[in-house]
Amino acid sequence: MEGDGEGVNKQESNVEELEEKLCQLIVSDEAPVEDEPQDAAPDAAVQEPEASSPPAHQELPTQRYSRKVFVGGLPPDIDEEGIISSFQRFGSLVADWPYKAQCRSYFPPKGYAFLLFENEKSVEELVKACVKDDERLQFWVSSPSISHKSVQIRPWKLSDNDYVLDRTVPVDPRKTVFVGGLPRTLSASEVAQIMSRLYGTVCYAGIDTDPELRYPKGTASVAFSDRNSYIEAIKTRFVTLRQDGRKCTSDKRVEIKPYIWDDQNCDNCLTSGYGTKPAHFFCSNISCLRYYCLDCWLVMHARPDIKFHSPDYIRRMSTRWS
Ligand SMILES: [Zn+2]
Ligand SMILES: [Zn+2]
Repeated sequence: MEGDGEGVNKQESNVEELEEKLCQLIVSDEAPVEDEPQDAAPDAAVQEPEASSPPAHQELPTQRYSRKVFVGGLPPDIDEEGIISSFQRFGSLVADWPYKAQCRSYFPPKGYAFLLFENEKSVEELVKACVKDDERLQFWVSSPSISHKSVQIRPWKLSDNDYVLDRTVPVDPRKTVFVGGLPRTLSASEVAQIMSRLYGTVCYAGIDTDPELRYPKGTASVAFSDRNSYIEAIKTRFVTLRQDGRKCTSDKRVEIKPYIWDDQNCDNCLTSGYGTKPAHFFCSNISCLRYYCLDCWLVMHARPDIKFHSPDYIRRMSTRWS
């Protein structure tokens, strides 16, 4: 009996060792496996897909907008105080712009800023006070040198977070991609349109937003109807969205990767009739694109020609989204 116990312990420690080894094989986020030329690196807005389920955007029925609003075309000499005083009649707010703390500039260096309102109601009031010119919302602000300058206001509508082609068809994790580096102006249905045009029918698109302000992070999950579209999209990896003046102010390079879910079962155990086992690894190599438990990872990657495949380790944390 003692011997048996030792055997079991030994097996367990072997599994742990192997698991550790596999984890060491995982390529860090900063070093992609593929030989991408340096200049092909996605811009800073690209975020790595986290092993997680696409967020369920549960909107409060009364909230229509994110509390964060883009304002563009500001006078060059308007400072934080000037921005705040131009908009505070709608409610209390903070003005922010990229790298505000680091660059220590008094003025938004690129002529745009974000208004972070305390209440969503303020955004509704601001939108009402704007003049609608085509699709653009216009407002007027003054600075020490320019009075009454027209600026563009761009609120984010929460209804633009999701696009669903058919609510009766569930989203298939094996056909879902992660898209990074997206212009934050694109709605879910626009993302779906672009991806459909490129790869085939999209049945779901969800814009990732930050949980506090509910403003787009520049990433999305996109589910295709067909597995071939999913594979084609991942094969492309990078795609350049051409500027159209209104939505993309410059060409934008977006990155496409498999969306890794954290609640999947091993694909191999299922098909080999071993029942279901939770998957701890995902192989994002185009020839695999499958979820594996540790045993199956080792079995399936024993072949010398695919031994180099690098696993994505899945931390199983959340429950399935609904
Ligand atoms: Zn398995
Ligand atoms: Zn593989």
